[in-house]
Amino acid sequence: MDLTTLFSANILVLSVFAISFLAMSLRVNPHGHWRSWAAANSLLAAALLFFASEAWLPELVAYLVPNTLLLLGFGFHLHAARQLAHLPSKASNVLAPATAYLLVAVVAYQVSNFALAYAAANVIFTLLCITTISAYTSPVFRGLISAIGLILAFFLLAAEGALRTVHGLALGGPAGPGMMNDMIQDIHLMSALIFVSLTGAFSLAVSFEQVAYKHREAARRDPLTGAFNRREFQIRLEQLLQATPRDNFGLVHFDLDHFKQVNDEYGHPAGDEALVKVSKTVISHLRQDDCFARLGGEEFAVLLPGISRDNAFKVADRLREKISELRFEFAPEEFRITTSAGIYHGDGSQLLTTDLLQAVDKSLYESKNSGRNRITFAEPSLGSAQ
Ligand code: GH3
Ligand code: MG
Ligand code: MG
Repeated sequence: MDLTTLFSANILVLSVFAISFLAMSLRVNPHGHWRSWAAANSLLAAALLFFASEAWLPELVAYLVPNTLLLLGFGFHLHAARQLAHLPSKASNVLAPATAYLLVAVVAYQVSNFALAYAAANVIFTLLCITTISAYTSPVFRGLISAIGLILAFFLLAAEGALRTVHGLALGGPAGPGMMNDMIQDIHLMSALIFVSLTGAFSLAVSFEQVAYKHREAARRDPLTGAFNRREFQIRLEQLLQATPRDNFGLVHFDLDHFKQVNDEYGHPAGDEALVKVSKTVISHLRQDDCFARLGGEEFAVLLPGISRDNAFKVADRLREKISELRFEFAPEEFRITTSAGIYHGDGSQLLTTDLLQAVDKSLYESKNSGRNRITFAEPSLGSAQ
């Protein structure tokens, strides 16, 4: 492809995505990152227009403007990535790299050394790409496929920026603005085209993937404790009952003892604080595949897939013990919360979820009636739900 076609293709793709990002910023909340992406793409399109006409620009403009626009554009990319990652991001993320370049470029112009400006632009550019990659590796993007696409796109550019830095430092770079070898320009513009297409598509995707993930989490979690909700718990239990081949699992149903007194004595917010603390303790003592849910009020359940009877009981008893050791800021030193639980172990064959839930509920109340702060095994009978 000739250079004019490559420049035009880049500018076209950048402009199309800039318009769609801008449209999204008017429709989808939060809109900060959409605006930053629109600004990034518009600035990059303007930078490419200047690069394409570099040979005809006054020398000072050619030294200063195209790379400044380019770095402002990538500054906005970094800003957008940090906004999406919920990391603090200030105007300096956008302005500092371009300002640093301008300072070097003014000196380079005065000493008529374009290679100096070229190397500075590429070093700053490479650092910006690496910083943007690190923002896209934040925990909020874990599990989002499109974030991997964005990381790859910025990695491609960071590698290219590093090569250009070496080219600038070791070989002196182009002798002046607009004097870059056509073949090298060709390679840069081809990788730029891949980059703008990848970032355009994956930026749209990552944003919607993040929203979809948030909605999915909101639909299956309890907002106070972050534990799964009853609905998700029943889905997981159903999956265990329908699994082939069948495997043994543990189901623990527990209820905090005399919890009403916590609210009565220390207030509802203190009760909430206790529920959160209990939940955190349980989560920290479970495996990745276990499912911890708040069934309602001060009632919780834990599913322990692929576990022996002895170990299921040990886990349940450890949770009981850990909860009973918790201390709460709102209450005197000696105050403790205990739990009573019912536990089932088996492969669930020929049992319905309702059979199981009724059986563990019954044994939970046996624990309550025989003194609380204990665990009782459930022996569900077939078809007890009917
Ligand atoms: P038992 O040992 O028999 O389980 O006694 P209990 O007091 O724990 O049981 P009861 O069912 O009488 O009371 C449960 C209490 O849990 C009453 C309710 O105010 C409290 N509770 C339920 N959900 C919440 C919540 O989200 N926040 C707070 N702070 N309290 C809650
Ligand atoms: Mg209770
Ligand atoms: Mg209860």
